[in-house]
Amino acid sequence: MDFSTFNRPHFIQKAVGSQYDLLVIGGGITGAGIALDAASRGLKTALVEKNDFSSGTSSKSTKLIHGGLRYLKQFEVALVREVGQERAIVHKLAPHLVTAEKMLLPLTEDGTFGKLMTSVGLMVYDILAGVESADQRIMLDKNEALEKEPLLNKEEVIGGGLYAEYRTDDSRLTMEAIKTAVSHGAICLNYTEVIDFKYADGKVNKAICKDLLTDEEVIISAKKIVSAAGPWVDELRDKDGSLKGKKLHLTKGVHLVFPQNKLPVKQAIYFDVPDGRMIFAIPRGKITYVGTTDTDYYGDKNKILTEKADAQYLIDSINNMFNDINLTIDDVASTWAGVRPLIHEEGKSASELSRKDEIFESGSGLLSIAGGKLTGYRKMAEKIVDVVMEKLEDSEGLEFVKCKTKTIAFSGGPFEHAEAVAQYRESIGKRLSSHKLNKYHAWYLVATYGKQSDPILEKFNELESQFKSAEEALLEAEIEYCLKNEMVASALDFIIRRTGRLFFDIDSIAQHKEFILNSLSKKLNWGIERENAQQEAIDLAIFEASEIFKG
Ligand code: FAD
Repeated sequence: MDFSTFNRPHFIQKAVGSQYDLLVIGGGITGAGIALDAASRGLKTALVEKNDFSSGTSSKSTKLIHGGLRYLKQFEVALVREVGQERAIVHKLAPHLVTAEKMLLPLTEDGTFGKLMTSVGLMVYDILAGVESADQRIMLDKNEALEKEPLLNKEEVIGGGLYAEYRTDDSRLTMEAIKTAVSHGAICLNYTEVIDFKYADGKVNKAICKDLLTDEEVIISAKKIVSAAGPWVDELRDKDGSLKGKKLHLTKGVHLVFPQNKLPVKQAIYFDVPDGRMIFAIPRGKITYVGTTDTDYYGDKNKILTEKADAQYLIDSINNMFNDINLTIDDVASTWAGVRPLIHEEGKSASELSRKDEIFESGSGLLSIAGGKLTGYRKMAEKIVDVVMEKLEDSEGLEFVKCKTKTIAFSGGPFEHAEAVAQYRESIGKRLSSHKLNKYHAWYLVATYGKQSDPILEKFNELESQFKSAEEALLEAEIEYCLKNEMVASALDFIIRRTGRLFFDIDSIAQHKEFILNSLSKKLNWGIERENAQQEAIDLAIFEASEIFKG
């Protein structure tokens, strides 16, 4: 059955009438990874997400699948090794979504790392991550560094290091993990919030949920419940009466997006800022984005806004490294801001906190997982599903099955390797060129949907003559695809989390918002009241993404 909003009543009915081995709370990358791991080991699995899939931190990251070079500086060798090795695995599972990206680390006279330290550090980084020799770091002299990136400050730069990282779209990665979990039998429901728990003999065995689209109560029974609620993990521990000992420490991170012509970097750069931190500038399609900040956060987790101090910090940092650019706040096209769900450590500042993940088990048997990184989602899932399997083996006599996700390709694939993605992109480009659509459209389709571009293009061919431009026909085909296969229930699901348009192509929303709204409204039978509410939601999202707020 299609993973479609139209089938939601059926999925809810099934969820209510079943007894699950595992219920996962949270549809960010952590929960999605757990659902996939558990379902592929044969566990009867359900997942509930209170908002849309990836609407929490998993759509607000720097979108890198990286080993975290800076953690090497903090001597977190095991963490760097684990996430470093995961990069290559996740790249193999979804090469259209996790793409190799050479990162330039410019060296300056008084930068974080000297030449020798950088050379040794990057070498250790490569070794820990098991990077193949052809991809290992190269040290550059001043001219070579400036050739790679002519925008760098010519007075300051003395050389650079070029090393291997991977780039992704966090929301798409989460969505494909969810869809792959569903293809292994998991039930995954968005807009379904856990509001309380039920217990038998002191052990948690039911989650009382609210279906936020119908306001109905949905009770889901499961032998084990895992909370992967990211920044909301402590709230669920509190509901369970088990919020004791270690707690979360939330830190805020902001990204600014500039049109390519305002910040025309040729390639991804990881550079020093005057306060001793480092930030990224990453070109992507029509834009370059820059981030991130790292500050303690105590505000509303459901509404995290980019404030003036965050934006000015990033702009000053860019202008310091790219000294001919002179960016101002007016050049910002859009922004996004999220919070890291880290584990509190006494006396440590935001950027000193470890990115290690941890599992908590309460007296009632509620398991919670927090900390960690997007990059390490697969390993985190393996760890906690191992725990779940051991417990089910003890209590239910279920046979322990080992993790299988190292070889489960994500939906959108499989592709044998990155070259196969390039060939596929070229073939899509050829198919589009006769319709006045360009290379950008081919890149966008393949980076977003992988091989799922095929059904989108088939629909496009069918629809083209009915629309006033090829671009609109393609958009319509995309909307139909997402409604049928990606559980889109609102305009924001489509423009933010399925397509990334709000962050990577905000102008296209201003241009097409009426079209998107009308198309969704017609297909989902919204009626005028719901349509107006959705219109307001789009306008607010555009406002919040493009406005810099007073701190
Ligand atoms: P979330 O994505 O927040 O998911 C938790 C979900 O639980 C949410 O969707 C929420 O709605 C849901 N939920 C909460 N309560 C309930 C409830 N009661 N019922 C149902 N659902 C509920 N990592 C990297 O590897 N690479 C990077 O480049 C990177 N950059 C980052 C930059 C920034 C600014 C930030 C903030 C983080 C970055 N990270 C990065 C870290 C990474 O993004 C996070 O570790 C990861 O996204 C956390 O995912 P999660 O699923 O645990 O949490």
